[in-house]
Amino acid sequence: MSNIRAIRGMNDILPGATPYWQYLEQTVADLLARYGYGEIRLPVVEQTELFKRSIGEVTDIVEKEMYTFDDRNGESLTLRPEGTAGCVRAAIQQGLLGVPQRLWYSGPMFRYERPQKGRQRQFHQIGVEAFGIATADMDAELVLLSARLWRQLGIEDCVELQLNSIGSLAARDAYRSALVDFLGQHREALDADSQRRLESNPLRILDSKNPDTQALLDGAPTLANYLDDESRADFEQLCELLEAAGVAYVVNPRLVRGLDYYNKTVFEWVTDRLGAQGTICAGGRYDGLVEQLGGRSTPAVGFAMGMERLVLLLEESGALAGREPAVDVYVISAGAGAHRAALAAVESLRTDMPDTTFLQHTGGGSFKSQLKKADKSGARLALIWGEDEVAAGTVTLKPLRDSGGERRPQQTVPTGQLQATLQGAIANEIE
Ligand code: ATP
Ligand code: MG
Repeated sequence: MSNIRAIRGMNDILPGATPYWQYLEQTVADLLARYGYGEIRLPVVEQTELFKRSIGEVTDIVEKEMYTFDDRNGESLTLRPEGTAGCVRAAIQQGLLGVPQRLWYSGPMFRYERPQKGRQRQFHQIGVEAFGIATADMDAELVLLSARLWRQLGIEDCVELQLNSIGSLAARDAYRSALVDFLGQHREALDADSQRRLESNPLRILDSKNPDTQALLDGAPTLANYLDDESRADFEQLCELLEAAGVAYVVNPRLVRGLDYYNKTVFEWVTDRLGAQGTICAGGRYDGLVEQLGGRSTPAVGFAMGMERLVLLLEESGALAGREPAVDVYVISAGAGAHRAALAAVESLRTDMPDTTFLQHTGGGSFKSQLKKADKSGARLALIWGEDEVAAGTVTLKPLRDSGGERRPQQTVPTGQLQATLQGAIANEIE
């Protein structure tokens, strides 16, 4: 019988990798708290209708990427492909939108895509959403806090900020027809994907990866020329605020977002270190979405970062080198009485030395085999309890690694001095 395996594109994250995840999650949580954002925890499953209405029927996500199924009542449900829709649904349903709200969430998202480096079917995002503020200073805050995050993570030199404004709905409609007119005259030069999008979602052709299409677009009308005055003014203000705060950006006039609900500001943080999956964080303004989902008209802006890609970047950049968690002390005992004494002593050491990692040998075995395990564990020190030591009220402290070119000798320590001696030995080993 063949073994059951994980679903393609849905990965196990193993203990070797989780320190990166924990570091990333903790850094983001601390930083968002410092900016006054509150965490919201949302269901992983929502009514399918929520995503159809918010993301848009003719987007890649809704057309071909959603995990949709009927539950036992015959209601159509979907594993969330992104977090904004659920966050807006919750904000409306829970009556959060009477005052401005700064919210964030994290968790798994699901899209049926072709798995590759930086692209999974279950992936993880941290999303940040700000409701109730229509002005560009809100957009600027989101960009500034993400820029600070990259600095804190030590990856600021690997990322570039790209900005664009996609204007009001009306401006985009006018631009859409101009673009369709233009591309319609060159239909035969477009690949099948873009030809299909010409009918369904022509703006998406702008971020086609096909070099021929990009060359063709050099002659196409540009979105910037169709912007409404308000969007243009807001975009200028955002750029000024970022310049004043010293955040570098490039305006990418072909930057559009894959989801229907965006307007005005859109932005992406991209890196050239991860191959084709270069966008680590993406977002923008979506002033119409709350009303579209049945709430009172509420301006909003947000972004989501892709955790897998950030972890890859952290690994790649070496920003976390030397942070691997290490065992400090491996605890060995031989004989039932010694084992009991060791267990009790180490529990109280754990209370008194909260920054020290103790690995207690379990499962018995000879002294020699336990020492071998201690060596293998990478621990700096071994603490050894034998029956003789217990009778004498002592413990043996044995250095397991050379420091300064030599191995310090093992010593016999009276139980009463164990903690002080151990702290001294750890300090010596670290220097
Ligand atoms: P892409 O163009 O890479 O498909 P997207 O525009 O579909 O991205 P968004 O919906 O804006 O992505 O999601 C925000 C971020 O979430 C992306 O910038 C990326 O970092 C991450 N992300 C999106 N889809 C995936 C995926 N399938 N696997 C891993 N990360 C993803
Ligand atoms: Mg996508």
